[in-house]
Amino acid sequence: MTLRGKSAVVTGSTSGIGLGIATALARQGAAVMLNGFGEAGVIETIRDGLAERSGAPVGFHGADMTKPAEIADLMAAAADAHGPVDILVNNAGIQHVDPIERFPAERWDAVIAVNLSSAFHTIQAALPGMRAGGWGRIVNIASAHGLVASAQKSAYVAAKHGLIGLTKTVALEAAGSGVTCNAICPGWVLTPLVQRQIDNRARDQGLSVEAAERDLLAEKQPSGRFVTPEQLGEVTLFLCSEAASQMTGSSLSIDGGWTAQ
Ligand code: NAD
Repeated sequence: MTLRGKSAVVTGSTSGIGLGIATALARQGAAVMLNGFGEAGVIETIRDGLAERSGAPVGFHGADMTKPAEIADLMAAAADAHGPVDILVNNAGIQHVDPIERFPAERWDAVIAVNLSSAFHTIQAALPGMRAGGWGRIVNIASAHGLVASAQKSAYVAAKHGLIGLTKTVALEAAGSGVTCNAICPGWVLTPLVQRQIDNRARDQGLSVEAAERDLLAEKQPSGRFVTPEQLGEVTLFLCSEAASQMTGSSLSIDGGWTAQ
């Protein structure tokens, strides 16, 4: 499969899962617009390294995905640089862990904005061009928490369940147009987002980081292993393939058995 000639946007791709997916898309030849936060020099090293290794055009736009005007600018910049967006991966996400009585309203708003509303804005911007071209792939990075809940993650669980609902609605509205919309639901992936939770668990329970990591996996993920960003990149490539052209509105669990329980 080659994605040469396709224009892709991956939100939140300066680290973790988004970077794994952007790498997989660029290696198949897609022109990729990266997005996310981080130190400018580090991001430029990532962008330049990916462009060199893949031979594909790779750009960067630092839109804050809580801000609709910046999201509009990201989508316009991607289309200007690489052509109308064919592949949209809504991946940017943040977490906040607190019981609901103590959950700061400002963190609720931020989690919903980044993890859910940003996907509404990017899809609204990209879908007309995908329809016009008769081909498009929208991949929403939800979570096992889009299917089941955990205590103390009210905003994240609500946003991820919402993202799966948005996925289904977009799939229905786009059905028959050549555009598909699916969600990927990873279990634990060892990224900075999860490392923070492991470090907090180690601190709160007086454990070593290794013991906290084992506990975290044992609690939810029967395989006892982390999912990797590279594996999620491969799943995204599958969703971009011809084999997946009739697959739309689906939620794919890649979670070591988490949601089979
Ligand atoms: P990460 O912290 O490594 O990466 C998050 C990315 O989003 C970074 O590039 C960051 O800069 C960017 N980002 C955060 N806030 C942003 C904002 N306001 N505007 C623009 N970019 C922003 O996290 P990750 O684990 O790779 O998470 C990626 C996605 O995968 C998230 O949606 C997360 O919910 C989901 N997910 C992660 C796991 C896991 O175990 N790590 C499991 C299931 C789902």
